[in-house]
Order: sequence, then structure tokens, then C-alpha cells
Amino acid sequence: ERMRTPAAVGDAERWTAHNYHPLPVVIAQAEGAWVTDVDGRRYLDCLAGYSALNFGHRHPTLIAAAHAQLDRLTLTSRAFVHDQFATFCRELAELCGKDLVLPMNTGAEAVETAIKVARKWGYQVKGVPDGQATIIVADGNFHGRTTTIVSFSTDPDARDDFGPYTPGFRIVPYGDLAALADAIDDTTVAVLIEPIQGEQGVVVPPAGYLPGVRDLCTQRDVLFIADEIQSGLGRTGETFACDHEGVRPDMYVLGKALGGGIVPVSAVAADRNVLGVLRPGQHGSTFGGNPLACAVATEVVRLLRTGEFQRRSTELGVRLHAGLRSLVGEGLVAVRGRGLWAGVDIDPALMTGRQACERLAERGVLAKDTHGSTIRLAPPLVVEAAEIDHAIAQLAAVLH
Ligand code: PLP
Repeated sequence: ERMRTPAAVGDAERWTAHNYHPLPVVIAQAEGAWVTDVDGRRYLDCLAGYSALNFGHRHPTLIAAAHAQLDRLTLTSRAFVHDQFATFCRELAELCGKDLVLPMNTGAEAVETAIKVARKWGYQVKGVPDGQATIIVADGNFHGRTTTIVSFSTDPDARDDFGPYTPGFRIVPYGDLAALADAIDDTTVAVLIEPIQGEQGVVVPPAGYLPGVRDLCTQRDVLFIADEIQSGLGRTGETFACDHEGVRPDMYVLGKALGGGIVPVSAVAADRNVLGVLRPGQHGSTFGGNPLACAVATEVVRLLRTGEFQRRSTELGVRLHAGLRSLVGEGLVAVRGRGLWAGVDIDPALMTGRQACERLAERGVLAKDTHGSTIRLAPPLVVEAAEIDHAIAQLAAVLH
């Protein structure tokens, strides 16, 4: 049993940089919420590619859109217009309630795009003196891995030994409106935050925080940039996590599930007075907004417009959170999250998050630890009630 797994794990380690510490599971195939490894074992996927697989593995509508596009046109570069581009940008802009969309590929690129746009907006619209723009970010943030983004990370693993660091960022405690109000000055062009901090362990800010950020940004003429790369597109039970508090940021930063688990697609969405600051030659990407990406992502937007995935996340999220809360005191010390998205803290006296995930994998459930004793659970939104119950039963067994 599991004959091919050890060799494949060893080979993978042999031929790549060790910038990840994957669980020893070698996946060969997947459908919906389930994956199958090279030895034929099946696992319930409770990570869903860090929410890149919100619609499940190989959603038929998305696969069909990809196939059809592969047979017609895959890449043009933005030197020309292609026939999938406007449809995608318009439909995503409408979903976001914004004037304009700028497509990129990865989440980090979309965050970089937001930073550049905010700075240029600061100089050209707000009137910040040249070279002085500052952007306020939160303690415990995760926005990606580029040199600029890790410059304002507070995680030593993400940041240490990657300097010199990009200046122009101020870090405030997450969830603290008074600290944010104090940090804003005439050089502030943007506040960049995750409406729920995913990599930090699915940390939900106090009620009223996001509306408070919105008010401060409006009052002080600062852009509110919401990084919804992990929290957005149905994950929390609304299209955007900001929707739970009726908050509309000035700029949405999107990625992960936007590509339907098929292609990397990211984007920023904002109104014309913000995104309109970019002129030809000032920003771009060879692959950003390519025909294959647009064809798939347009169908992603249409799936979201049905509301089905948001509804599933809300309803099944109640079940997930009730099940997890029943394990508090039984091996869990805390449960956080919203919809089909949970961060749970394992009692560190029992085992590490890593050990818990290894034992879960042995029981056919895939999840990933973060920051020592925390596990994140984020199944595809196509998961069924009985599968949620199964995942919770396996977690209970691991903890006992
Ligand atoms: N922003 C948030 C909130 C994320 O969770 C992530 C990825 O985990 C990123 C940005 C970076 O996205 P990518 O890995 O596609 O660059």
C-alpha cells in the first residue's frame, strides 16, 4: 500500500527548493471536494488550494469554458485586444460595483498593482509631495511574497534576510481603529488590509472595525484597499467578506478563486478616479488578462452571480462552526471564522498543528497548519453536509 507515495515525495524534495513543507500526499486526480493520490487513496480536500478552489476541483462549467477557449485562442498579450477581454472586465466590474478592472495573474501581482495605483493616486489626485506616500498595513498581514510586500510583513520567516526593504509602509495593530486614526497623516495614500486575515489563522476583526476603517478613509481622503484574495468570491458566505458589514472599499484586490482553480487570474477593481491614473506603459503583464484566463474567470463571475456558492457557504458554514465549537475543550482551544472558513487552535499540550494535519491526512482529510498550533479549514464550497460531518468526526478522532 502507498507504494508510489514515498518515492514521489522523495523525488519532489530532491528536485526543488525547500520553500514549502508539504504533507506527504501525492495527488494525481481530483473532482469536486475530493482528491485521489498516486496510490488510489481518496481525501476530502479541506484546504481547497488556499481558497483557489472555491468551486471545487474541475467544476464542469469552468472546465468546459477552458476547453472551448483552448480550441480558439489562448494568448495575445495586451498589445492587442481579444474578444474575451471586455466581457470579463465588465462582468467583474459589475460584480464589484466598480467602474474598472485591471487583470493580472497572481495575488502578489494584484497587491503590487494596488500599491502602485494608490501611490500614483496619492501624487496626482490627493497631492502628496513627490516620494512621500505612505500606505498603512496591519500587524499579522499576509499579502504575498514579492520584495516590496515582504518589506511590510511582520512574520520573520516571510521577511528576514530579504532586505533591503521597500520604504513607505506603516504597520498598525489589526482591529484597532484608534491606532489606525493615529497613524494616518497627510502622506497617507491608502490603508491596505485583509477583511479577515487568512494566513494569520482566519482572524476576524471586531464588529465595527471595517466600517470604522471605511469612515476614517473617507474622512481623511485615503483609499481603502481590501485584499479579498483569500476572503472573497464566496468563501465567507457573501461575495466579499466586506459585505458582511456593508462596507465598500475603494479598491478590491482579488485572486485565487477568480481563476476557477484552472489558471492564475488576479485583478484589482476600482472606480475611474482611482484606476484611471494609469497611463500606457506605466503598468502591465504579458499574461495578465489573457484569453484563457478571461474565458475561465468570466464563468467564475457568472457562477458567483447565481448566489448558490455564497448560500452554500453560509448554510454549511453554520454546520462547520457548530461542529468545531463542540470540540472546544475536547482538544481545541479556539475556533474562528466565517462561512465555510475556519481557523482552529489545537491545544498545544496535545500536538502541533502539523501533527494534527498529518494525522488528518492519514484519516483521509486534507488541511494545512499555520503558525504552530493553528489549522485552517476551507473546503470547496461544493462540499456536502455529510462531508462536513465526516471532516469534523475525523478531527475529533485525531484529537482524542
Ligand atoms: N493576499 C492574500 C490575502 C493571500 O491570502 C495571498 C495568498 O495566500 C496573497 C495575497 C498572495 O497571493 P499569491 O500567492 O497568488 O501571490
